[in-house]
Amino acid sequence: MKSFFLSPTTLLLCMLIGIVMLPSDNKRAAQAPAVRTPAAPHVARLDAQRVANAAETPPLRPVRTDGTVAPPMATASQTDPFAPVYIVTSRDTWQGIRGLVRDAVARRDSTGMPLVIAETRADRLGDIGRYVHASERRCGGYFAFPTHAQAEAFVRADRSRQAMAKSLPAAYTLDNRATVDRWLPQVQERRIYDTINHLSSYRNRYYASSFGRTSAEWIRSHWQSLAAGSPQVTTELFTACTNCSTQPSVILTLKGWDLPDEVVVLGAHLDSINAGNRNDPNQLAPGADDDASGIATLTETLRIALSGGWRPRRTVKFMGYAAEEVGLRGSNAIAQSFRSSGVDVVGVLQLDMTNYKSGAVPDMNLIADYSNADLKNFSVALFDAYLAPKGLTRGSVACGYACSDHASWTNAGYPATMMFEAGDPNGDFPYIHTTSDTLATMGESAQNSVKFAQFALAYLAETAKTAQVRPTGGPAPVSRR
Ligand SMILES: [Zn+2]
Repeated sequence: MKSFFLSPTTLLLCMLIGIVMLPSDNKRAAQAPAVRTPAAPHVARLDAQRVANAAETPPLRPVRTDGTVAPPMATASQTDPFAPVYIVTSRDTWQGIRGLVRDAVARRDSTGMPLVIAETRADRLGDIGRYVHASERRCGGYFAFPTHAQAEAFVRADRSRQAMAKSLPAAYTLDNRATVDRWLPQVQERRIYDTINHLSSYRNRYYASSFGRTSAEWIRSHWQSLAAGSPQVTTELFTACTNCSTQPSVILTLKGWDLPDEVVVLGAHLDSINAGNRNDPNQLAPGADDDASGIATLTETLRIALSGGWRPRRTVKFMGYAAEEVGLRGSNAIAQSFRSSGVDVVGVLQLDMTNYKSGAVPDMNLIADYSNADLKNFSVALFDAYLAPKGLTRGSVACGYACSDHASWTNAGYPATMMFEAGDPNGDFPYIHTTSDTLATMGESAQNSVKFAQFALAYLAETAKTAQVRPTGGPAPVSRR
């Protein structure tokens, strides 16, 4: 048994508590890929002393750029820290977190990836994330469900193999340079900085904290203000997620004039987490890079596209996903809902961490796994056409099972791709999921995200295309290609 984070004494205590708290289930244990292990005693009660300690900790950015002061404390915890959570993770990751889960059963997804479904508790998800980051140098690493049956159904219905291999339903071409060339010079570092600064001024954007909800509501109203009353634009809070606590996802829709039923999605997750605070609604989790930078990149992309009155041929949806840090919950709920109602999503771009670059590394990395092959090739072609001439460089990395929200779309059978910051020479962002994930540790600059906004604009222009609009209004009769 791997006893990371635990001293021998703690481990012994842990085993005793684990035996008492988690009685054996022989039937399921017999199916498990190995003998199940007792859970660790990560019992973080939100007692009076703890609240007092949190209250004494000054907010990282007490005064926002708009002059208002962030409320110091969340109103209440929204979830039971001891509630069971059923995770789907890779067998390799399970090997490292066996002390934090129980009742593991072996499964495979449609790609043949060896997986494990196992039970844990809400207050252990931070430790699981910390293990995945520390040992595997990546984030995420699992999908989360409120019941074992839902986890089983998710694996059974997995369509990743099909999603990764299928030819793009839309004929993506590079023929909208006029729009891209008009947009790229408009990206402003200062605006991206301001959005990151605002989002990281909340004490956290944790899914089970009142800040998790208010920050999502702010994103919706900010996006709405950028639409400036355009009749083509609608915004909504997506709340049909059964395990997202009170955190909604945010969706802005810009309706296509020509092919309104073909949907292009650009997304980033809006929540944050501090891996050291177990389900504490008052944890300090500024999440400036992870993933305020992704939301800020999308926001600048949106601003530029909408400010010129752009009308796309395809429908475009900008999404801020809830509860990514606790098992890709918001994106999974949306992707499953779209699958059930037959929404034709022709391409998804995920932006999760865009602002950190340290040392001689590429400007951005294409994620190689759990992505659609054609869409990856298209992303490379886009980069080479529009960013490489600016002297920018690209690489490619694998990020493992369930590493970010693109995996939710892939699971649901949709073509998805992700562009990711290169980080440091180890491919790492050293401050992820800590109180130091701030603009200060990124040189008080959002310059790295400028490149990602430019990439997102090129992606947007070339996937959604630009509708030819008659001077009298109304959609022009543009052919499908
Ligand atoms: Zn993230």
